[in-house]
Amino acid sequence: MDVLTAHELYRFYHASEEEIMALRGISLSIKKGEFLAIMGPSGSGKSTLLSCLVGIDEPDGGYVELDGRRITRRMEAERAAIRSSEIGILLQTGNLFQHLTVEGNIRLQMNLAAKNGKQTIAHLLDLVGLNHRRKSYPKQLSGGEAARAGLAVALSNSPKLLIADEPTGEVDAETEKHIIQIFNKRREAGESTLVATHSEALAKHADRIIRLFDGRIINET
Ligand code: ADP
Ligand code: MG
Repeated sequence: MDVLTAHELYRFYHASEEEIMALRGISLSIKKGEFLAIMGPSGSGKSTLLSCLVGIDEPDGGYVELDGRRITRRMEAERAAIRSSEIGILLQTGNLFQHLTVEGNIRLQMNLAAKNGKQTIAHLLDLVGLNHRRKSYPKQLSGGEAARAGLAVALSNSPKLLIADEPTGEVDAETEKHIIQIFNKRREAGESTLVATHSEALAKHADRIIRLFDGRIINET
């Protein structure tokens, strides 16, 4: 069963005179319980693709369906509602509100999702190994801790689909292993995970790797 499908996504940017074709007809799907990695050099369109998949950005062509429900070309409020209840999102930066503690950030996201999940803040902090940091503010965290805190926020709505943009980009090898374990557990629980990554160590745990180059899929293994 497909959790998410993307049909022929196109995205163009117009910076000054130039037209940048960030996505040139990308189609993909991710199944329940699947762990999918998107790889490709910087500038190949990974972040643009992920933003379109979660409805933070709108593609210029094509559409995205979540559980058979179209999420593209809807009012932002509708997209936001679908996002906050169904999808966990970890961006490359800007995952934490600076004026809230780690715990406060998780609580806020839980309240936004308004889902009666089984998750508790303590459980999420345990999962990412940040119990001792729960009262810390984002600027007091190391890069690896901030990445894990962002992951706890992304997981706080017990999402059936987690979409993470370079989740181990800023972390040490030990933290990367920890994050890989979390993704492997999601697979066991029948939850889907899609990551954009440069890390071969992370990608080798994926069920499938899609490689992008210049806004197109060049290889799928
Ligand atoms: P990746 O995540 O693989 O590094 P991106 O999706 O960030 O790639 O970028 C794909 C292409 O789109 C790049 O050429 C990038 O410069 C361009 N791009 C991304 N975001 C914007 C934007 N907001 N405005 C203009 N160009 C952009
Ligand atoms: Mg990127």
